[in-house]
Amino acid sequence: MINVPTGRDGPGGGRELQTMQMNVDLEAQTVDPLVFYLTGKRPATGPDALVGQRPALLAGYADLTRLRYDFPLVLIEGKTDGAPVRSLSSVVDNLLQKIAPPGMESEQLRKMILRLEREIRALAAAGASGRLSELWDEAAARLEKSDQTFGKSVRIARAALEIDGTVLDCRADMATGFIAHLWSAVQADKAQKFRVTASRLAVRLADILRADHLRSAAGRNAESLMAAIGLAHQALFDFAALAKVLPKSSPGEALSDSRRRRIESALAVLNGQRFFAPAPGQARPEGAAEPYSFHFDNCADAIAAYRARLPELAELLKAMAIAELEVDGAYVEGKHDVVFAGFDAGSLSPRDLALFPDYLVTIREGGTSLDHAMLMDALSSDLSLKVVLQVGDLAAEAPAGNGHASGLRGTQLATLAVALGEAFVLQSVSSNLYQLRERVLRGLSFAGSALFSVFSGVAAQQTSLPLYLSAAAAMQSRAFPAFSYDPSAGRDMASRFSLENNQQPEADWPVQVFEYADPEMQRISQQAVFTFVDFLVCDPRYHGHFVAVPRGFQAERMVPAAEWVGRPSADASGSVPYVLTAGSDNVLARAIVDDRAIGAARRCLERWRRLQEAGGIRDSHAERLIEREKKIWEEQKRQELASSTTAAAPIPAIALPAAATQAEPAAATAQRSPDEAYIETERCSTCNECTQINDRMFAYNGNKQAYIADIRAGSYGQLVEAAESCQLGIIHPGKPIDQAEPGLDDLIKRAEPFL
Ligand code: SF4
Repeated sequence: MINVPTGRDGPGGGRELQTMQMNVDLEAQTVDPLVFYLTGKRPATGPDALVGQRPALLAGYADLTRLRYDFPLVLIEGKTDGAPVRSLSSVVDNLLQKIAPPGMESEQLRKMILRLEREIRALAAAGASGRLSELWDEAAARLEKSDQTFGKSVRIARAALEIDGTVLDCRADMATGFIAHLWSAVQADKAQKFRVTASRLAVRLADILRADHLRSAAGRNAESLMAAIGLAHQALFDFAALAKVLPKSSPGEALSDSRRRRIESALAVLNGQRFFAPAPGQARPEGAAEPYSFHFDNCADAIAAYRARLPELAELLKAMAIAELEVDGAYVEGKHDVVFAGFDAGSLSPRDLALFPDYLVTIREGGTSLDHAMLMDALSSDLSLKVVLQVGDLAAEAPAGNGHASGLRGTQLATLAVALGEAFVLQSVSSNLYQLRERVLRGLSFAGSALFSVFSGVAAQQTSLPLYLSAAAAMQSRAFPAFSYDPSAGRDMASRFSLENNQQPEADWPVQVFEYADPEMQRISQQAVFTFVDFLVCDPRYHGHFVAVPRGFQAERMVPAAEWVGRPSADASGSVPYVLTAGSDNVLARAIVDDRAIGAARRCLERWRRLQEAGGIRDSHAERLIEREKKIWEEQKRQELASSTTAAAPIPAIALPAAATQAEPAAATAQRSPDEAYIETERCSTCNECTQINDRMFAYNGNKQAYIADIRAGSYGQLVEAAESCQLGIIHPGKPIDQAEPGLDDLIKRAEPFL
């Protein structure tokens, strides 16, 4: 269930069959389960029922280092043709394809390389950091101590490794490191494009100035000629004699003072710019200041830097535009001087800004640097801020300190950002980020601000569960589901919003098969769900919401928490909810859950359902519409039936007028000319799409359903656009009234499906 087992278990390792013994009574305790459920009160000195326990569905993942899965990652150094990040497993797979293709002769080498991979994974899980080549050598040295044959094989493989880069495991700051690396790759592309343009312009401008200098009297004296010829050939010439015989410069061909100043100024701005660093291995131009940093740890500093640098950015863009005109000889002072005199920070368009580095802000939720209001302001402004918000606590106690596990501020921030409508938003857990790398790259390339809200797992000091598992559990339990919102993907929510790769997105909780052995060692296979209550089990800070089942408490009075969450809250009926856990000894146990944890699970489910609706699952508007359409259809059928019964009756002369009257609305629609523009108003779902296009052409009637109020209040193009936007397809644009409207041929073609 948790995204660990991919069927790629490592050699000799992997997930064992979950054959655990069921032991209902974990330990005796003097607590009344019903009182505990209702009040959450337990003996002050009572033990933590969940010490060493984890959700039963996670029991099979005792040692992640024995599994081949997404982590650790390799953040690839330098320019690469493929993705800038790869999983260690995929790097090793590629290597094996090259040096040890499947077959008996390569089997030994394959085994050794896979063994080495596992060792690197174990090193990374233990906190080792460094480049792949360094960890490779360290792992090889360890293995070689116990097996001398490792040395040669590993050297062969190491020599064939074509990539290198930092190894990153799923640790607390994984999201920051991962997204910052992809951000650097996006900025490197921008820098590369800028450098190509800027260096071309700088060389051409310098050529113009040099040519002008050579034409001048100063450029033709002996010293200048000697400098121009260069050291290698200086002995061959008499530069004093050469200076005398060269014709005097023609003042008419020299640059005007204003042009020379303009070119010198543009060149100075290009050489002194601080937005992009020189290419790797190249020195900064003489006198140029340090390049700017674009990585911040709070929004306020990033916004201040952005604003302060805008005038300089405008100067750089102006210099580039002037340079382009100058190298083409197209600068006309009478025309362009005025344009450039008024060019300032206010003249910059989003397209201009997109050419320059984005500001990366990495912050930790709960840290002093997170100012919610400023973050929301930044996300709804015209800035191009990429904010990585690392969330570490999902079930935070309410501020009043009343013990309610109801925080979930991280998820609220991301959904609030979606409501703003302007920014790219991605929510995910860190264990899922590699799967969403393309989406992350898309957000980082988005021309505007972006928020990446990532839950990094329960802090290591709080739990013995690996961060990968704790993060994956948050996504699985719907506590922190993945979703993305991309304003550039289309105009409607269906195009922009995606529930990404949540498991079984149509279900309340994901269901999977769970197998164990009962006290008689009989294999039991049943379906189990993973809920928010299971997620709370993963975090010892919430263990106060659980208590062990007292000895002798009847099993039939216990109901699985998932089932309990779906019941009306007041329906206790003498029973209590429980969650199934497993210890390191693989023995199953039940723990009773209090009402507060159940309440938190219900709120989690409500939030998940709202997300489902945004993602087009269980859309209440659509369901209501379907219900209404069904009723209309049933009513029409009933009337048709009544009409045909009446027509077959022996006295039609009396019945006919009534039947004709009843059939009138349908007949009116049927008789409409395809040339006429109209809306099937009675089917309108009041989605606002058409009224947003033109609220004078389209208006609502007393029923809040749209009709064409004034066809001349807009263009035929808007009519066609509305028809295309209407998700019910009930706007019929007819034929254009204004035959002079531009692009009519194309519009008529687009209108055809709606006539
Ligand atoms: S777009 Fe269609 S459904 Fe939406 S308000 Fe207009 S007519 Fe009604």
